[in-house]
Amino acid sequence: MSVLVDNIGELVTNDDGEGLLGLRRDVAVVIEGERIAWIGPAAQAPAADQRIDAGGNAVLPGFVDSHAHLVFAGDRAAEFGARMAGEPYTGGGIRTTVAATRAATDDELRRNAGRLVAEALRQGTTTIEIKSGYGLNVDDEARSLRIARELSDETTFLGAHVVPAGSDPGEYVDLVRGPMLEACAPYAKWVDVFCDRGAFDEDQTRAILTAGKQKGLSLRVHANQLIEGPGVRLAVELGAASADHCTHLSSADVDALVNSETVATLLPGAEFSTRSPYPDARRLIDAGVKVALATDCNPGSSYTSSMPFCIALAVRDMRMTPAEAVHAATAGGARALRRDDIGRLRVGARADLIVLDAPSHLHLAYRPGVPLIKQVLHSGVPSNHPAAAPNSTEGPLS
Ligand SMILES: [Zn+2]
Repeated sequence: MSVLVDNIGELVTNDDGEGLLGLRRDVAVVIEGERIAWIGPAAQAPAADQRIDAGGNAVLPGFVDSHAHLVFAGDRAAEFGARMAGEPYTGGGIRTTVAATRAATDDELRRNAGRLVAEALRQGTTTIEIKSGYGLNVDDEARSLRIARELSDETTFLGAHVVPAGSDPGEYVDLVRGPMLEACAPYAKWVDVFCDRGAFDEDQTRAILTAGKQKGLSLRVHANQLIEGPGVRLAVELGAASADHCTHLSSADVDALVNSETVATLLPGAEFSTRSPYPDARRLIDAGVKVALATDCNPGSSYTSSMPFCIALAVRDMRMTPAEAVHAATAGGARALRRDDIGRLRVGARADLIVLDAPSHLHLAYRPGVPLIKQVLHSGVPSNHPAAAPNSTEGPLS
């Protein structure tokens, strides 16, 4: 089955073309099965079985959300309300979600996570990373990852989210890097640690990441969200794909990121929802750090699944240009997941495309809060097609 996408006002390729986004005009795209087979001048487009008329609108790669916590039960709207009334975020609220998650059935967790994946897809997200981290014992972490794996190939073991209530920190770290890792590794591609105030310190983080690496998992780190701690330095030293948050950085942290393969993943939804200062994206980009944008979708500190919202925040409040923000939400996220088959539109890439209801990528920040995602193709399948509903019988949204 081949599909021709034409009448494209502006194609964001993140590949060959004009500027950072590799913009092209007067081009058409042909998809064969799950892959992009041809991109070239519209007038020379080959015939295809089906046609999608983009209506003169912008076409972009699907968003790559490289940081999300979707396997949980309950919500924390009351905590959010209290915080907006003046109480600071301490991270302790994670334990509320742990209690609800442990009490939930597999089906309840699966339905909630599937609902969020579908919500993200409607907003243009065609790849979403999913972490565990609300089970915090061997069985509940393993089942969280088993359920995450049904929805995404990009699954992350985050047993080291917080020390559960009543546990001894040293004993808990031994559990995470021992039996819990053993039970979770078969369902996980990544291991992550919340290295910050009130969570895990440098030695604990190093011990867990090193054990995960020995088990064959690749590394990501929740780093420097709340304080200027050791997280970013450790992420670079251990070769992590991404250091996430990067809100409080020393000059040495920035230098370390510049000279590394570690992406700085910025999560402005967390600062928005905790009314905290945003990370200094300009400082990072101007220094030459590779930057990604992700939602951090979770019930406590950032309950949004919307990449367009994060793009708008990054432009308005983090002084990124619209092109930088769109790039960070697509190619940047792909780099943070060490993927080269997504996040850009070129021959051979996975056919993950967004058709906007707008002529240019600029509108994603220019028209904040407006539903501009007109159509999504995931692996070549239109998302309004029955086979593309994440809760039906087809494969995972990875
Ligand atoms: Zn997170």
